[in-house]
Amino acid sequence: MSKGTPYKEALARFQQVHGTAHELPDTSVDVDALLRDHHPDHLGGSIVDLEVGANRGERCHRQLADMLQSNARIDEADLAGAKTVETDVLIIGGGGAGCAAALTAAKEGARVILTTKLRLGDSNTVMAEGGIQASIDKDDTPQIHYDDTLRGGHNLADKDLVAKMVLDGPDVIRWLIKQGMQFDVDEFGDLLTRRAGGTTADRVVYFRDYTGLEMMRVLRESVLNREIEVWHYSPAVELLSDEQGHCAGAVITDLKKRRNVLVKAKSVIMATGGIGRMHLNAFPTSNHFGATGDGLVLTYRLGAQLRDLDSFQYHPSGLAYPHHLAGTLITEGVRSAGAQMINAEGQRFVDELKPRDHVSSAIIRECAEGRGVDAGESGIGIWLDTPGLDLRNPGIINKRFPKLVQLGKKSGIDPAKTPLLIYPTLHYQNGGVVIDENGQTTVPNLYCVGEVSGGLHGKNRMMGNALLEIISFGRRAGHVAAQSGYQRRHNKVSIAHLGPMQRDLTLAKMPMDLQGPMLFPDYAKFDSDAEYEGLRKTRNREEE
Ligand SMILES: Cc1cc2nc3c(=O)[nH]c(=O)nc-3n(C[C@H](O)[C@H](O)[C@H](O)COP(=O)(O)OP(=O)(O)OC[C@H]3O[C@@H](n4cnc5c(N)ncnc54)[C@H](O)[C@@H]3O)c2cc1C
Repeated sequence: MSKGTPYKEALARFQQVHGTAHELPDTSVDVDALLRDHHPDHLGGSIVDLEVGANRGERCHRQLADMLQSNARIDEADLAGAKTVETDVLIIGGGGAGCAAALTAAKEGARVILTTKLRLGDSNTVMAEGGIQASIDKDDTPQIHYDDTLRGGHNLADKDLVAKMVLDGPDVIRWLIKQGMQFDVDEFGDLLTRRAGGTTADRVVYFRDYTGLEMMRVLRESVLNREIEVWHYSPAVELLSDEQGHCAGAVITDLKKRRNVLVKAKSVIMATGGIGRMHLNAFPTSNHFGATGDGLVLTYRLGAQLRDLDSFQYHPSGLAYPHHLAGTLITEGVRSAGAQMINAEGQRFVDELKPRDHVSSAIIRECAEGRGVDAGESGIGIWLDTPGLDLRNPGIINKRFPKLVQLGKKSGIDPAKTPLLIYPTLHYQNGGVVIDENGQTTVPNLYCVGEVSGGLHGKNRMMGNALLEIISFGRRAGHVAAQSGYQRRHNKVSIAHLGPMQRDLTLAKMPMDLQGPMLFPDYAKFDSDAEYEGLRKTRNREEE
């Protein structure tokens, strides 16, 4: 990548043009060529063909392929003497999708256990900022929402799933309000809306710039106030199968007591979220520590079909400076409110509200071609002109974007006065596990909801559709999973499905020393070295 203009010099140039109108130059480009030349999904060597499993022969990001084709963390010996617990519905993952599913299944009368890797609510959901899409505006309709979503995803989304999601939209907002969620409203009490990049209507409802925190607050409280058993610090490390190869529960590792528990369930709902902490292509990420793709690995081993494994979202506005906050998200809501992006030469270079893949690729192009701002150790980026936004709308940053103000304090930068340096950050997994309209996967009794699932966003997600998806499909799966007539008691459960997978890995000469699921990134801190070792205890079993 070419070096850009040094930070101080570029900042001085920015200050000189601050306050003048920045016209958008002619930005008509061949979008396909822009993506092909600059989007990280197209970086040379980052895509491989899978060699084993239900998606054998299909394209997949190299680092994800390694995990999908990794060896299990446990074997039969780890289950000897393990306690067995039974439930109707086992939910794996304590973010928004898992909670929505748990609340719905419990309301239907099912006995529910929700197990989660960290604490309930430690998730990507709690970090969501910009808002949630639903066609509630008088000038908007589910049809327009549907068209926007398909176009944004390059017409590669599953049309039936998108139709279900957009039709659920208004009722999802009603349901969230009934749970106690607050949204920003005007002086008449009507919900305020903002526009998401690439869409044609103001459709995103929000609460300040911490919509996810507010959503997770009410979901968490609702779950804790019901008869739902919640297990903290208890990741699923493998699924259980019956003699037909159907899903029959999961093996859970209690991180505190360092022991495995078998949960036999009539239905399992996987809601483990995304994979940002795999740091694909060495990008920083906006995601929480638990976003390590565990659900993809576990469902794939049981034979589930996945899709779009070569498509990831790099959000345009990840903080690039200072270095220790690299990758932290600045919501698209700031651009939606009117913030422009300026390169080191003091010029705009892209319509800021184009779809995210387009905007991110344009930023990467500016930096690659020498028009970026060089922040030394922090790398390179371009300006998000928050001072210009505040100049045109006095006080908007303090009023509408408190989380941004907080981020500014952590960075030692007042965003109302000084622009923030941004560069794309690994944000979202566009694809995932293939599901039907109720979250049912290709494996009987196994459901997937939320970011772990695929199909709703094609090859590019739009702001606000993930929060809609998790509630829409969380509720759908919770409802259907609770009706399961599966006779768990009559079935012998095991991890026997690992056998054929391991045989295929051996035949394909895959390295057997890498173990999955990943659970935590290597640099994650634990209370003690012993606890850290506990997580990795099986890595070199043969050598021990
Ligand atoms: C910074 C940020 C801002 C965002 N802003 C928006 C926005 O404004 N609008 C929008 O629509 N979307 C937004 N998104 C995306 C959206 O928040 C997520 O896609 C969505 O919330 C995912 O919900 P989920 O329930 O599927 O996963 P999560 O909320 O991530 O929950 C997954 C849960 O599963 C747990 N887990 C993981 N592995 C295991 C395991 N092995 N066993 C047990 N538990 C496990 C995790 O610890 C976590 O609790 C944003 C994302 C981020 C990171």
